[in-house]
Amino acid sequence: MTLAGAKPDCLFCRVAAGEIPSTKVIETDDVLAFRDINPGAPQHVLVIPKHHVAESVADLQVADEGIAGLWASLLTVVQQVADSSPEFADGWRLVTNVGENGGQSVFHLHLHVLAGRRLTWPPG
Ligand code: AMP
Ligand code: ZN
Repeated sequence: MTLAGAKPDCLFCRVAAGEIPSTKVIETDDVLAFRDINPGAPQHVLVIPKHHVAESVADLQVADEGIAGLWASLLTVVQQVADSSPEFADGWRLVTNVGENGGQSVFHLHLHVLAGRRLTWPPG
């Protein structure tokens, strides 16, 4: 299945479409949460809009119709992820990387949810 607006060369569009297998944590009509393939913590979940709405938060057209609702949907799933395991009980981190200096490697909007160890600050 290809989602409307999917970019054929986009890794996370392909994950959202089920063309690339992922370990799903939560799925709703418009949001998918799945395990990061290279976890940086015992719990490392990626939360993405299924549609390719933006490359990053820098690119997100926040005034566009539907974006406020989509953002609420993303944060709802983030909270559900944080309720999915006792490893989140002592705290967790929500991260979104932007661009080269931000360490972004996949240019489909996504949120990292990390937990299960004492995370250092500032990040590397
Ligand atoms: P970022 O570097 O912020 O763009 O985050 C992209 C994340 O996607 C990295 O943490 C990667 O480990 C992760 N990743 C890349 N390919 C996959 C995949 N096929 N399934 C799950 N996570 C992936
Ligand atoms: Zn995409």
